[in-house]
Amino acid sequence: MKIAVYPGSFDPVTNGHLNIIERTIKIVDKLIVAVTVDSKKSSLFSAQKRTEMIKEATKNLEKVTVQPFSGLLTDFVKKNKADIIIRGMRAISDFEYESQLALMNKRLAPEIETIFMVTCSKYSYLNSSIVKEIASLNGNISQLVPKIVEKNLKTIFLNKKLNKAVYPVK
Ligand code: ADP
Repeated sequence: MKIAVYPGSFDPVTNGHLNIIERTIKIVDKLIVAVTVDSKKSSLFSAQKRTEMIKEATKNLEKVTVQPFSGLLTDFVKKNKADIIIRGMRAISDFEYESQLALMNKRLAPEIETIFMVTCSKYSYLNSSIVKEIASLNGNISQLVPKIVEKNLKTIFLNKKLNKAVYPVK
């Protein structure tokens, strides 16, 4: 049984992430989407909310489970009996950071392989920060994120206008 882990902050999940998920499950038996709890970046959504939104967006994909995680990624991978880490590769700008991460994980756990999925060209410019920026300016994000994310972002920026927003959003 091939089990893979797709780690990330997913703040929030975008159609680019979902495209990687959908393509990965064609080559593995089980995919665990691992949502980082203690990210270096400050997040708009709480880890619980980020997890909930991915669960909703992937509810029809049988092979996918979603879990928040903290601590070392390689420990999480081993604990879940997986031996593959999936990462998305958009532009050459992703390469330096991603290869550094993969090499460090290889050093920590030589039995785990990192596999890079190259993004589908229509999502190559897409990332969570851009989505948040467009949503905050009231732009149309319906083609960029799943419905649940669009709905939550609309609520946040409406509350922000009304001065009722509390971060990270629970
Ligand atoms: P992190 O903060 O850990 O990089 P992200 O949520 O930003 O987490 O991304 C998780 C993974 O998904 C990373 O490997 C990233 O390169 C990849 N990814 C993000 N956006 C896209 C996209 N539009 N297409 C393909 N891969 C993507």
